[in-house]
Amino acid sequence: MRLQLVASTSVAYAVLALLSGLTGPQDTAIAEIWLPAGLSYALALRVGFWAVPVPLLGTLLSHVSAGDSLSAGVLAMALGHASGAALMGVLGHQWMRRADLFASLRNVSAFLAAVALAAGLSTLIASLALPNLRDWSIQGDALGWWGGDVAGAIVLAPALLSWMGRSAGPRLRELRRPEFLLLVICCLAASAIADKGVIKVLSLRPQTLLVPLTIWGGLRFSPAAATVANVVLALGMSVLPDQDRRLLDLTRGLESQELLELGVTTSLLVGLVVLVISNNRARASRQLAQVAGSLERTVAERTDQLARANAQLRHLSETDGLTGLVNRRHFDALLRERWIEAATAGSPLALAMIDIDHFKLYNDHYGHQAGDRCLQQVADVLAAQIRSSSDCAARYGGEEFVLLWSTITPAQAAAAAERLRQAVSDLQLPHATSPVGASVSLSIGVAATTWSGHPATAPADELQHQIEALLRQADQNLYAAKAAGRNRVVAS
Ligand code: GH3
Ligand code: MG
Ligand code: MG
Repeated sequence: MRLQLVASTSVAYAVLALLSGLTGPQDTAIAEIWLPAGLSYALALRVGFWAVPVPLLGTLLSHVSAGDSLSAGVLAMALGHASGAALMGVLGHQWMRRADLFASLRNVSAFLAAVALAAGLSTLIASLALPNLRDWSIQGDALGWWGGDVAGAIVLAPALLSWMGRSAGPRLRELRRPEFLLLVICCLAASAIADKGVIKVLSLRPQTLLVPLTIWGGLRFSPAAATVANVVLALGMSVLPDQDRRLLDLTRGLESQELLELGVTTSLLVGLVVLVISNNRARASRQLAQVAGSLERTVAERTDQLARANAQLRHLSETDGLTGLVNRRHFDALLRERWIEAATAGSPLALAMIDIDHFKLYNDHYGHQAGDRCLQQVADVLAAQIRSSSDCAARYGGEEFVLLWSTITPAQAAAAAERLRQAVSDLQLPHATSPVGASVSLSIGVAATTWSGHPATAPADELQHQIEALLRQADQNLYAAKAAGRNRVVAS
């Protein structure tokens, strides 16, 4: 796999080396933008020392395919490029916290420093066999050679890294955006304008035109898209016909070359910095959105849990633990509600007070636990008497229960109470010590009423008075049922 990578990228290196020949003044044979440096430096950052053979093989391959003999100079160049890649790998891995060039400005700075040093080493080693590379003055070739490597790395490496990197991978959706096409067209136009002498009128250097475009690319697009635009821009600047370069030819050829290298490099650097900043901003806002989303979910979950806990709590606070019926406290509130409803509608309301006969004797004979089970069984029969949600069966206290019926006539209530008494009797729960009979029995007092006035206009204590009167009546009837021998219903 690695060998395949080395072989294929070496070929790519050779092709780029041949193409790079087009991007420089033919007389010096020094490319203004040495793209192979970008390829080998990007590879070095990604795969480490496996990138080293690529410039070595690629340089030899490009010379062989161009028909050159393998002279000491060619070998020195190949060795120089390979050492540059090696140094780039070492420094890049050492200085960049992550391999993602666009992760931070620190990474960009580390990348640039590594590029400058690697290109310097590459030039130095090549100069061992190429004497013209020993002159680092503005007149000499060394600066142009070094600048070509740096410019090539800055043009191509960020683009390759963004396309190779998993996180900042290609976003074709963005590439198809009309705005991106417009950027590319503007890049080409800028290159063309730079070559047509307009800048002379505006007294601008062509590379000045690059800066706003690279900022635009950096701000608006993914790293992949922005770096592609930069490559188009830089190559457009350098590949277009040579004759108008005279515009830049302030003193002589080399200076114009260096100016162009410097311009391309500077403006792409600006773009790179803007790209990192906008990348960081996008990442921060993505993280913020994620945090906000998860916070919203957590709040919704907690609200839901709270609502469920509240409902559970309310249910517990309204229910009798032993029988599952409504407890006394909640019954009092419900009675008031039903009373007002019935009074508003002018409909009748009935109430039954229910008491288990000789329950103390039952407990004494069968034990408290059996007494509890008996209470539960009686409660189940009571619950079965409920006809609608407006009826209510409650444990009133001890072995006493109440049944509240809405919209029921006194006769219907008396009949329902009798059915209840019969149903418990039918259970045939043995009660050996009961003086009333062989099984558990109920005594029930029923009271019914219809309110005549309007509850909204009635004073609160009048309402309470009426409710208490109904309860008292039911209680008196229960007492009467007890007095009459128990196991019966007394209704009024
Ligand atoms: P009466 O026929 O006159 O109603 O006589 P009674 O024995 O049923 O009435 P009394 O009020 O004298 O006794 C009620 C008994 O109910 C006393 C108490 O032990 C029992 N009791 C009250 N609450 C519970 C309970 O939660 N579980 C059990 N097992 N017994 C209870
Ligand atoms: Mg009692
Ligand atoms: Mg009793």
